[in-house]
Amino acid sequence: MDRFTDRKVLVGIAAAVVLLGASSLWFNRRKRIPPKKTSLKTQLSYEQAIKNFQEAFLVSKEHMLLIKQSMEDEFKLGLSKVGENDRKSSIKMLPSYVDVIPSGKEMGVMYALDIGGTNIRTLKCELDGYGNIKSIFIRKRFVSDELQKGSAEQLFDFIAACVSDILDDVTEENKIGFTFSFPMDQSSIDSGVLIKWTKGYTTSGVEGNDIVHLLSEAFRRAGINAKITALINDTVGTLIASAYEVADHNTMAGVILGTGTNACYVEQKANILKLEPQVEEGVMIINTEWGNFDSPEYNVLRPTQYDIVVDKNSPNYSSQHFEKMVSGMYLGEIVRLALLELSQSKLFSHNGAPPIITPHMFGTAYLSEIQRDDTPKLENVEALMNRIGLPNTTYDERRLLKELCHAVALRSARLVASAIAAIVDRVGKKETECVVAVDGSLYEHYPGYGDNIQEGLRELGFEHVILRLTKDGSGNGAAVAACVMSK
Ligand code: ADP
Ligand code: MG
Repeated sequence: MDRFTDRKVLVGIAAAVVLLGASSLWFNRRKRIPPKKTSLKTQLSYEQAIKNFQEAFLVSKEHMLLIKQSMEDEFKLGLSKVGENDRKSSIKMLPSYVDVIPSGKEMGVMYALDIGGTNIRTLKCELDGYGNIKSIFIRKRFVSDELQKGSAEQLFDFIAACVSDILDDVTEENKIGFTFSFPMDQSSIDSGVLIKWTKGYTTSGVEGNDIVHLLSEAFRRAGINAKITALINDTVGTLIASAYEVADHNTMAGVILGTGTNACYVEQKANILKLEPQVEEGVMIINTEWGNFDSPEYNVLRPTQYDIVVDKNSPNYSSQHFEKMVSGMYLGEIVRLALLELSQSKLFSHNGAPPIITPHMFGTAYLSEIQRDDTPKLENVEALMNRIGLPNTTYDERRLLKELCHAVALRSARLVASAIAAIVDRVGKKETECVVAVDGSLYEHYPGYGDNIQEGLRELGFEHVILRLTKDGSGNGAAVAACVMSK
């Protein structure tokens, strides 16, 4: 190298150092704590890359305890009187107005409507009075991206059409339980104002409006004779479906691990200080909206650089931090971002291939499939890669990918364990056996996911908590709610 090029190189390095310094200063000022970094920029061995991912996504026992404590503080703040504190809790703690826990003896044929993140389910079912919820029929319709991003009228007309499909008799008024799984402000059991869309929805004209009113208008437009008698969300549905099914066990919380994540639990009314008027007796289910958890500094969850990008690219930037590290909508995307970096640093081939460069093209269901492969050379992963357009992977690449998926899903499960422990602590069930009802495809289908939550709970001293898969809890729960709350 001659002296001139030498100087150019030096000036280049100095400029890079100044730039890096300035950007990290800017970053630190904004977030206070920098994200956990993996360093794939230098050429690593597969072993080192695996170790880096394990470290970046590690949630130690100490970290779990910190998250648990911090969540408990947010729960308390969220229940306090409105305007009493300078800071709002990141966890909304919304009263559900469900203040009757089913006894299991409720009877009747009920209709229910369930809108989660991905599908609309309509069902007709029978409660037999012995804890059984028999589906007479269930219909499932996919909510297209177009509908999720269109107008309120389009979306609610579509929902009304789904309801119309299942009603037998339109001459008399049909009572329907409605599960709507987005944060709502309720002041009664049969109304609720959407606070903010989550899970990728941006439908206009819905935020700030009463969901039941919007749907009733759509019923009127379509000439449908129906009335929503109970409006709940999926967590509440899951809790009460489980409480109905196993009434002699104590179901104290409902958790969703699907497109998004959220939880509800049974609280003493006397502790809900923001309830107007204040009530001393009885219980009410609180919908936590825990998906939005973290401190204002976003530093309790300790995001990696991938989490920061997921947040930046999301339609709801700077909210739902916990959800973005936990739920089905995001786990695949976190893996995709790590794969993108791996492919740029030559540890994974297919640099520039569509499943790697296209946001949300690497679904969380792939992670399940990868995790499930126990063949010696990961042949099923190879078949999956071939199928999605990433052919001819080496065994090292597949091994690295599997470890990456495992690290991301394990972190999710341990974050959830910390959060469940916070709820159990909150209600003072430190020793008594209690049931947490869980629903959602991530929990149901990801191999070992439930065991990892249970193991996290055990590490924190909560082995007496029983996780109970409550399939279709959100839909069935709407039917139970319609029955219980109309009494
Ligand atoms: P919703 O959240 O709409 O009620 P689900 O509980 O079925 O619906 O969750 C759907 C989400 O779960 C999908 O968006 C996807 O992220 C994730 N998912 C679907 N299948 C699987 C699977 N096999 N393993 C892990 N996650 C899955
Ligand atoms: Mg659901």
